[in-house]
Amino acid sequence: IFSGPVTFLKSAPKLEFLPDPTVPEIAFAGRSNVGKSSLINALVNRNNLARASNTPGRTQELNFFDVGDPALFRIVDMPGYGYAKAPVKTVQQWRYLINDYLRGRAVLKRVFVLIDSRHGIKEVDHEIMKMLDNAAISYRIVLTKTDKIKATEREAVEADTMTKLRKHVAAYPELSVTSAEKKGGIEDLRGAVLEAVAS
Ligand code: GDP
Repeated sequence: IFSGPVTFLKSAPKLEFLPDPTVPEIAFAGRSNVGKSSLINALVNRNNLARASNTPGRTQELNFFDVGDPALFRIVDMPGYGYAKAPVKTVQQWRYLINDYLRGRAVLKRVFVLIDSRHGIKEVDHEIMKMLDNAAISYRIVLTKTDKIKATEREAVEADTMTKLRKHVAAYPELSVTSAEKKGGIEDLRGAVLEAVAS
């Protein structure tokens, strides 16, 4: 399925632009620069399907990609968050858009929350996890860029992440450990996506 057709469907800067909820959705969220575009591209075996915005924190849109033709499910690229220089108004708009999407989307099966393995879970990550808890949307943590750290550091980040996850109710009790660069953990992540689609 991941090497078959995957096509950009549409961008939704506001809720009224969401596509009809005809198939299950799996969304990807994370701080700006976490490696979200790279990971989505690795997942679907493409080079530039998902594109990083040039100005971090600028793109306040949900991007929808159809997987399969006809679509079996959709990948949703959520706008990056936590960009330090983002204007207050932009952050507020992000909050409204994400909250409305999470609360109103019955076809949303799971959110994959990406965490840079060099930094671990930060306060802004707890914020989105709280939004997911409140919306009762299940989510799974994906550590990114693990080629950049040593195995021992990775173990420490994994342990710290699991500890921090216990504060949250809708968190899925497993981590995905990935490197888009080295294509590490991608096959497992595909399995996790398909499992979520079928849930
Ligand atoms: P986004 O803003 O979350 O979509 O992040 P991008 O996918 O654009 O990645 C941000 C930066 O991190 C880029 O310079 C990527 O080349 C780099 N990057 C992304 N994934 C990896 C990875 O797995 N390993 C390494 N070493 N770099 C990565």
